[in-house]
Amino acid sequence: MPELTEIAFRRSPAIRPQKNFQTNQLRAMRCWVYLNFCLLLLVAGNGCRWERSGNSGAGDSAGVSKRDPTGPWKSGLIDGSSMAPFLKGQHFSLRCPTCRYPFAVGAPLERSASMTCPNCGHQWKALATASIDVVPESSDRVRFAPVEIDQTPRRWERIVRQYGDEFMVKRVVGLPGESIGFDRGDVLVDGRRMVKPWGLQKENWLPVYDSDFSDRRGDRLLSAQGGLILPFQLGGENLGFRYRHVACYNSKRRRQTEVIKDSYGYNQTLTRSLNSVGDIGILLVFAQAVDPVFVIELQTEKYGMVHFVSSRGKMGRFFSVHQPEAPQSDSQPVPFSWEVGPRSELVVCLIDGMARIIVDDCLVLQRRLILAKNTSLISGDQQVRVPVLSAAEGELSRVKIFRDLFYFDRLPDRLFVLKPREFFLLGDNLPMSADSRGRSRPVQRSELIGILD
Ligand SMILES: [Zn+2]
Repeated sequence: MPELTEIAFRRSPAIRPQKNFQTNQLRAMRCWVYLNFCLLLLVAGNGCRWERSGNSGAGDSAGVSKRDPTGPWKSGLIDGSSMAPFLKGQHFSLRCPTCRYPFAVGAPLERSASMTCPNCGHQWKALATASIDVVPESSDRVRFAPVEIDQTPRRWERIVRQYGDEFMVKRVVGLPGESIGFDRGDVLVDGRRMVKPWGLQKENWLPVYDSDFSDRRGDRLLSAQGGLILPFQLGGENLGFRYRHVACYNSKRRRQTEVIKDSYGYNQTLTRSLNSVGDIGILLVFAQAVDPVFVIELQTEKYGMVHFVSSRGKMGRFFSVHQPEAPQSDSQPVPFSWEVGPRSELVVCLIDGMARIIVDDCLVLQRRLILAKNTSLISGDQQVRVPVLSAAEGELSRVKIFRDLFYFDRLPDRLFVLKPREFFLLGDNLPMSADSRGRSRPVQRSELIGILD
């Protein structure tokens, strides 16, 4: 069966038709590919198949050398989508016909399924006709080393777990003795909001918007998620923008806000209710940045309004403004210094209850955020406004917006208390993952057999 996977889903001219070209032979080929998708998913479930690494592998395809830490690396193909989009099973690579944005969608898919572009929101039936923009892709291949006997897996590591005859890749979220809960898209460990390291936040970013694939209508951009308004200018006199990451609606004449629900890119067939969009990050690339002066306002359901103001002398000010009842101290500016060169990348992210500012991959500011309590007050109009500087300088060449994984449990307020030697595992693709939240339960240390490369 693994050989079939490889042959069926490898990119090849035979299943990559030219634009506006569809023959009966091609249709037959596509049907064959879809049938194989379905067959493989039925056979393989949500796990992985392991293979020998080179010629030195020991044991059969599932025989991992648990007792030999110096043993060979193992590799395997990812069947399921529970760790997507970082590790993908069988999937399609697509390109939006409107904005040309590239993205991946998990298989299987109905030919009549409607795709939504994560970048511009354009909807179309991508599989209904042959297109050079739709490419069936094979599963991702991963490599792992056996866990040593005296080795304790660490939080956030991607781990291989034995589950009956199957092997699964998940992420370690809870360690023995801890209590695990969820709140507003974050993981709580012993009641504390877990903050992922910056590198891991970046690794898990999911795309929301990229100005290089812009579908701009005037200076306002309406995103796929709905409820976002993004007026900004790339250069010009007023260098600054406000980004609202909230869905607004009117209820009994009061304006309410809530977490945005989107089509979640990779899981296009899911209902929107499972696809919440929480924490965000914004990446700016400076075209020619000599001490630029600008303002960024980020507004989210979770953190209220957050301001980032740069000023001359390579200095910045950062502060958040909540509802009127929020502690005053939270509105006090935090100054910090930063260096920006040509093509510099500035990242401002509000993730895991933490604000971080990163310039060219160097962390220049890290500050815990107080979460907003009463989101109905976030109307946008009542907020303290920082006027966009009229004498702004600098020019941006690219704006990218990302979001973090949204951690949730289908039973709200449930608490998982781990016993000694028990670990709590989650898939990155939380809406589609069977993991410690469900029947897969917390996992014994003895079931953890490998750590991904
Ligand atoms: Zn698009």
